[in-house]
Amino acid sequence: MTINDYKFAGKKAIVRVDFNVPLNDKAEITDDTRIRGAVPTLKHILDEGGALIIMSHMGKPKGKVNPKLSLGQIKDAVAKALGVAEVKFAPDCAKAQEAAAALKMGEVLLLENLRYYPEEEGKPVGIEKTDPAYEDAKKAMKASQKEFAKTLASYADCYVMDAFGTAHRKHASTAVIADYFDADNKMLGYLMEKEVQAVDNVLSNIKRPFVAIMGGSKVSSKIGIIENLLGKVDKLILCGGMTYTFAKAHGGEIGNSIVELDKLDVALGVEELAKKNGVELVLGVDSVVTDKYDFASASLLEGATVKTVESNAIPEGFEGLDAGEKSRELFAAAIEGAKTILWNGPAGVFECDDFCAGSRAVGDAVAKATAEGAFSLIGGGDSVACCTKFGLTDKVSYISTGGGALLEAIEGKVLPGVAAIKG
Ligand code: AMP
Repeated sequence: MTINDYKFAGKKAIVRVDFNVPLNDKAEITDDTRIRGAVPTLKHILDEGGALIIMSHMGKPKGKVNPKLSLGQIKDAVAKALGVAEVKFAPDCAKAQEAAAALKMGEVLLLENLRYYPEEEGKPVGIEKTDPAYEDAKKAMKASQKEFAKTLASYADCYVMDAFGTAHRKHASTAVIADYFDADNKMLGYLMEKEVQAVDNVLSNIKRPFVAIMGGSKVSSKIGIIENLLGKVDKLILCGGMTYTFAKAHGGEIGNSIVELDKLDVALGVEELAKKNGVELVLGVDSVVTDKYDFASASLLEGATVKTVESNAIPEGFEGLDAGEKSRELFAAAIEGAKTILWNGPAGVFECDDFCAGSRAVGDAVAKATAEGAFSLIGGGDSVACCTKFGLTDKVSYISTGGGALLEAIEGKVLPGVAAIKG
C-alpha cells in the first residue's frame, strides 16, 4: 500500500514520526527540521478526511518517565505546523485507548514519549549482558514489546511509518507494530519515501569524484560506515574529534584532546584500507586548541588561551576543538570539484562560535560544489544544525532527517522500518 493510494477518509491513522527535536532550557524548539519533515504526511491524512494519532520518542529517557523529555512540550508547535487549532495529548502512550476511541475525523492526538516504556526499544533493563539470567530477561522483554506494539496498533485502522531518523531500529513503534496490520493497512509516509529515494540517488548513480566528509566526536561510532565508504568514495575527509585518534596512532602529542586509545589500530587499519582502495584520505594537519573549555555551556572559561598548533603537537593541558586554517584549506580543496558529496558530522565543536570555523569551511565548500553541479547529501543532527547555523540549508541538495539511519542506508542495509512494511 502507498500513502497516495490509501483511502484515509473515516480512518484513524497511527503515524510514527521522528519528533526528537532539540529543546533549549526554556523548552523552546531550537531546530524544527524534523517536525517540518513530517508535515506533508500528516497534512495529507487530515486533508483526506482521516484522524491522526501521532507517536514519537524524544531523547533517551531509558524506559522511565522524564518530564524534561515530554512530548507535551511540543504539542502547540505541532498544532502550528499542521495549521490546526488543537492537538490533543495522551499523557501515557500505552493507556490512550479512550482518547483514541473518542478521536473524531480531522482531529489530532499526540501520544507521550514512547521511550518512557522500555518496551519501545525492547532491551531488558537493569541487567548486564554477562548475567546468566540475561537471555531469559531478553525473551520476557521481547514478549512485552509485542504486547506494547499491539496496544499501540489497537488505537488505529492503519499504520504509517514516517520516522526515518529511527528507521534503522527494530523498535515497537518503528517495526514490531506493523505485524498487527495487514498489508493493505500499512505504508511508508512521504518523508520515508523521499529519504529512501535520496539515498538511492546517491548509490545508484554515483557521479565522480565522490567525496565523503565524516566528522563528529568518535571513530568508534562511525567505523562501520567509514570502512564501507572506503569501497565507494574517491576522497574521504576525516575531521572533528577523530583527528586525535589518528594523530595518537602515529605517536603524536595530543594534549587533552578527545581520543579513543583502544581504537589506534582501527585508525591505522583505515589508513591501510584507504591506500589499498586508492582512496585519498584527508586528515587535518593543524588544530585550534584551548586550555579552558566548558562542554556543558559550550563556552570558553575565563582566562582561556586559544591558539592554533599542529594536530600532532598539542601542548599538555590543551585540547583540539576545531580544524586550523591549513586543515580548512585542505578540506575545501578536497571538496572542490566533487560531483557527489556525503557529509556527516561537524569538523569541530561547532556549537561554540570560537570553534565553528572548520565546520563552516566544510559547509561553504559543500555549498560551492553544489552550486557547480554536485549532488550533496547532508545527514546527522549535528551536520544539519551546522547547515542551519551557517545559513546553508538552501544551498545543499538534500538534508536528511536521519543520522544513523542515513548511514546504514548508505551502507546498503535494509532498514527494519522499511522491511516491516515492504517485507
Ligand atoms: P557525533 O555525535 O559523533 O556526530 O558528534 C557530534 C559532536 O562532536 C558535536 O557535538 C561536536 O561538538 C563534537 N566534536 C566535534 N569535534 C570535536 C572535538 N575536536 N573534540 C570534541 N568534540 C568534538
